[in-house]
Amino acid sequence: MKWINHQIVTGFIVCTATDNALFTASAIVGAVIPDRVEGSPPKESSAYWKWRKNHRTWSHWPLIYIALIGAAQVAQIYYPEPTLNFVLSLITYALVGALLHIAEDALCGKVPIFTPHKKYGIKLFKVGAWTEYFFAALIILICLFIRFGDIELLKSYLDLLRSYLDL
Ligand SMILES: [Zn+2]
Repeated sequence: MKWINHQIVTGFIVCTATDNALFTASAIVGAVIPDRVEGSPPKESSAYWKWRKNHRTWSHWPLIYIALIGAAQVAQIYYPEPTLNFVLSLITYALVGALLHIAEDALCGKVPIFTPHKKYGIKLFKVGAWTEYFFAALIILICLFIRFGDIELLKSYLDLLRSYLDL
């Protein structure tokens, strides 16, 4: 998935779940961490293949991020100082963003789950294909519906529309 779609999809999911602008911003930053830590692919051939071999292994291993989230939670319990607590929450949401990135990658390729070198995934769409944008739009619609969805309101609009059409 392209970085921009990673950021949009992750942002909408975290915003819907937390309704907090700063946590959402943090998750959007975190949504590119797993790719960022790999650096850009080197031009030189042998260095490239070395990079390629480790692509989407350690950087995309969810257990690392889950362990870091756990550590942040423990630190919050032991150091209840408000500023530190808030910073730890921001870090936690950045890590949640990274986990969502990995989940999104698993839909268009393969990512490790149990060990860093054995990868799993379902190929729902190709990176950059129209289906990727369709998927991103679908997630946005689902989030908007969860957030603002109101069946009664929708029905009243439809009734209104029908009454106009009858005239
Ligand atoms: Zn990735």
